[in-house]
Amino acid sequence: MKENRIFNFNPGPAAIPLEVLEEAQGELLNFKGSGMSVTEISHRSKAFDDVINDTIARTKRLLKIDDRFKVLFIQGGASMQFCMVPMNFLPDSKAADYVNTGTWSTKAIKEAELLKKNISVVASSEDKNFSYIPQNIQFNSDAVYAHITSNNTIKGTQFDKFPDTGNVPIVSDMSSDIMSRPLDMSKFGLIYAGAQKNLGPAGVCMVIIRDDMLEMVPDSLPSMLKYTTYSSKNSLYNTPPCFAIYMVQLVLKWIEEKMGGLEKMEAFNKKKAGLLYDFFESGDFYRGTAEKDSRSMMNITFRLPSEELEKKFVAEAEKNKLGGLKGHRSVGGCRASIYNAMPMEGIEALIDFMKDFAAKNG
Ligand SMILES: *Cc1c(COP(=O)(O)O)cnc(C)c1O
Repeated sequence: MKENRIFNFNPGPAAIPLEVLEEAQGELLNFKGSGMSVTEISHRSKAFDDVINDTIARTKRLLKIDDRFKVLFIQGGASMQFCMVPMNFLPDSKAADYVNTGTWSTKAIKEAELLKKNISVVASSEDKNFSYIPQNIQFNSDAVYAHITSNNTIKGTQFDKFPDTGNVPIVSDMSSDIMSRPLDMSKFGLIYAGAQKNLGPAGVCMVIIRDDMLEMVPDSLPSMLKYTTYSSKNSLYNTPPCFAIYMVQLVLKWIEEKMGGLEKMEAFNKKKAGLLYDFFESGDFYRGTAEKDSRSMMNITFRLPSEELEKKFVAEAEKNKLGGLKGHRSVGGCRASIYNAMPMEGIEALIDFMKDFAAKNG
């Protein structure tokens, strides 16, 4: 670990690889010989065109996606997608399915309902406080799309395998696990991900959309709220969040060139999460909150024997340069968010600290 830095277990905004931060630092004052920072150059310049096109090319290479898909950059976070998805694909005559696996799915459902769209919640894990991923879900074959949240950042669950939706394209909120593993893109009509968990800084949401989905978008929507505006202008209809996109580019470059692609990324993430889950099971002081077959590789949620000990744990961890371990305010407990950028040393340091804490307080 570099001096003055901590191991950052924050859920989002979250850790960015040190190499990426250093590369950005090195280029901050003079981007590619322009004599300007990347945040100062025109979004219509050749230099920025190269940034956005390389970010798209890297996304396509990493996910092995073909030219039927467009990669877009939209502001408003993942939360904006909660309304854009139903607005773009659900005229009054059409319906969509939603799976409710936690706080973010609930919000996506709420936005579709606010818009008075015709949606069915075909499965939910609310009965057990969202501690599991529903299996054998029956989707409606005439649904325009099936919306899922692939990784539940707050509850610490994740779809290991994606559900069989027949011919219905999956629309997935992948904010907290995009680029953590390879995907079979043939199942998806649209993927969206706010960047600040696993892709870079806040301020941009990556949207990957298939061309048959684009064909459904009505002309009548406001320009900034329809996907076709972004797809027809390479996300440069208006000024995009240039710096955030540039950071995403550097993160993708790091995944490709330093980590060796998504198969390797997945193996690394499985190993890191496995160490923590195995450690929980080796004693009874720490208790994982997600059911075993539904556990997330990205957000490890756990409890200690009492809320008092949880408070003490988070505070003492902080003093030991282990930051961001408090659970979401809506659920309490503890959570270690271990996205791509969390190094193995961070996991080892956390487990060492946890052993020590349990020995002193158990
Ligand atoms: C963080 C998060 C969101 C919200 O993202 P914003 O960019 O803040 O709108 C939505 N979905 C999931 C799964 C998240 O983890």
